[in-house]
Amino acid sequence: MVTDSTERVRTAHRAWKRQTFRRDAYTPALGRLKEMAPGHDCCMYCGQNLADHIDHYVPMNHDPLQAFSWLNYLLACSACNSRFKKGTHAVDDTGTPMLVNPTVEDPFVHLHLVLDTGEYCGLSPRGEYTVSTCGLNADKRPDARRHARDVMSLALEQWWTARDRGLPDEMSRALSVIQDQPFAGVFQAMLRQAVRSEADLLFAGIGNNGRLLDILRSPGAQSELRASV
Ligand SMILES: [Zn+2]
Repeated sequence: MVTDSTERVRTAHRAWKRQTFRRDAYTPALGRLKEMAPGHDCCMYCGQNLADHIDHYVPMNHDPLQAFSWLNYLLACSACNSRFKKGTHAVDDTGTPMLVNPTVEDPFVHLHLVLDTGEYCGLSPRGEYTVSTCGLNADKRPDARRHARDVMSLALEQWWTARDRGLPDEMSRALSVIQDQPFAGVFQAMLRQAVRSEADLLFAGIGNNGRLLDILRSPGAQSELRASV
């Protein structure tokens, strides 16, 4: 028996795939989401700069009426959208969605990036759910975050040296290296964790961590970097 709900889901899926919709609405909306995203094509779930899909935060199967709601659209990479999250959508006892939505809340309240390993761990049940549902520690993702961390650390030292010497072009080049790294969230985590009381522990295991912390804690450096990347 086909229920009204089932038929609404089918209708939403058909309309979502319609060629005229893809051309006139999907493509412009995808472009707008990319303009709004931090970094370059930054996936709202894993943070990697491979986002090329519109993900429905509340999947069409759960609420087809939100299929064409702008507020339900998140920029996502293919892996998060089609391989990991797919149609998953759980809510807690209060009806709050378990998946952290970075467009309306601070993901770092629920997620902690371990700078040494490149892995995310959940700080709350919703954080743990998000790590699992989006495969944040799957495959080579932690390796890639560690690599981005090391490249950004070197660029940060170059930026600091150029700043000391009053060389704006070199400062811009170093900032570009940071901005172009594939995981925007890694640098945000470094900025935040550097000013915590346990920063020495959080940065343990990272090459030249003392120098990094000196830079990230220097007066003016935090605000300059936050405004630039
Ligand atoms: Zn992703």
